[in-house]
Amino acid sequence: MCGVIGVIGPYNESKVPFWAAYEAYRGLLTLQHRGQDAAGVLSYDKDRRKFYGHKDLGLVSQAITPDQLESCTGNMAIAHTRYATVGTDGVGDLQPMVTGFPFGVGMIHNGNIVNYHSLAQDLGRTYDLQMLTNNDLELMLHLWCQKILEQRGPSNKPITFEHIQSSASTIMEKTKGAYALVGMLAGVGMFGLRDPNGIRPLMIGKRDSENGMEYCLASESLALNFLGFEVLRNVLPGEVVLIDEDGQLQSSVVAKVEKASHCMFEWIYFAGAESTIEDISVYGARLNLGKVLADKTRKAMDRGEINPDFVCPVPDTSRTASIGLAETLGLPYREGLIKNRYIQRSFILNTQDKREKAVELKLSPVRSEIEGRNILLVDDSVVRGTTSKKIIDLLKRFGAKEITLAITCPPLRYGCFYGIDFPAESDLIANGKTEEEIAKWVGANKVIYLEEEEVTRALTTSELCMACINNRYPTDVSEGREFAAKRNKLKNQSHS
Ligand code: SF4
Repeated sequence: MCGVIGVIGPYNESKVPFWAAYEAYRGLLTLQHRGQDAAGVLSYDKDRRKFYGHKDLGLVSQAITPDQLESCTGNMAIAHTRYATVGTDGVGDLQPMVTGFPFGVGMIHNGNIVNYHSLAQDLGRTYDLQMLTNNDLELMLHLWCQKILEQRGPSNKPITFEHIQSSASTIMEKTKGAYALVGMLAGVGMFGLRDPNGIRPLMIGKRDSENGMEYCLASESLALNFLGFEVLRNVLPGEVVLIDEDGQLQSSVVAKVEKASHCMFEWIYFAGAESTIEDISVYGARLNLGKVLADKTRKAMDRGEINPDFVCPVPDTSRTASIGLAETLGLPYREGLIKNRYIQRSFILNTQDKREKAVELKLSPVRSEIEGRNILLVDDSVVRGTTSKKIIDLLKRFGAKEITLAITCPPLRYGCFYGIDFPAESDLIANGKTEEEIAKWVGANKVIYLEEEEVTRALTTSELCMACINNRYPTDVSEGREFAAKRNKLKNQSHS
């Protein structure tokens, strides 16, 4: 899971130059929650016929300094904040990626190409191509360039939208997986595309300025709102859009599937609560998840299985669902855990050791609220269970009597091959365990999960990927499974 943003303003020599990189950087700050491993920015300056970019490990504000940003001139820019899945070999694997040959093109993406290894081998065999990084974006960059090169032939004709459509179509035919991609073509404009299932989000915004129309492509509407862009629409699944240097928007759906499969986790956990994804408010969806969870919880209360004194969120994501749950049940809402806002999100941190240390550091219990009380603790999801176990243990150390764990996501039993770094299936707490066993393992009196149909109802759409709970992947994931099996074997060997 990553955050992507691209901004393009009109090119106008006679007026004050539009500083696209500054806008992209500001927008990227609002997408920080989508990845905290690294960040980067890339601009194209038409006057100097040059790309300028910087990328580094760390948060957006650490990875890109004010001086570096100032050197990124030009009227179009893309920026990326990274959550690593494939490609973790240092700065070389970071985004944006750029090439100057056979023409200038820079790219960023959010997602994961499941058939990366076989495609990389194919490209190597067919074109003698040498991959320089482990990042699947490099593969898409090569596919894109190769297709445009073939179409233009030796005459170097100008790149047209038809060329761009064909390149997008090639990517969509050859790759299996999830991607929301934004790129810049030197002297042409900015483009964006989304995989045919629309697994990862991407939307377009526009803003009128004294120089003309400015456009923004971003993972979430909160970035567009923050920058003052009007949300125009989502980039459709299988669609490619181009905003050229004159501010003309062209688009075409080049691949279609019967039904889109948007990642349910965007609403449950990843996206900012103030965002709207696929025209569905994230905040509203989380409130609904809490309300639906309340129906199940009430049944357990009516049966006398639990008797909670108040509803308590695991901050921050589950706060909204907790409000919906508490209001529906008529129970008080209390914040029994206070989050240290300077510690990173634990699920996104890239090693288990870092995740466990982050739990200890990031949550402080409020003894006055907790002591001697029965708590209905709400979390958005339970992955390995180690975080829940630590939190429940912490609450008990501060005097909590009974703890019921209510979870807005159904049990996660299968891996994600679309850009979320889930552990091996055998490490998922829900894999092979009953709800009673899970409750015992995490130290709760009871766990209450939502079911698949209840999530669909709460999110008001059935166009969802829910593969990590139902094993129904919207694309072929056989290569991803093979890769995961090899990785786990190696991990187990190194531990034995
Ligand atoms: S498998 Fe799960 S986390 Fe991955 S894209 Fe699908 S719903 Fe999202």
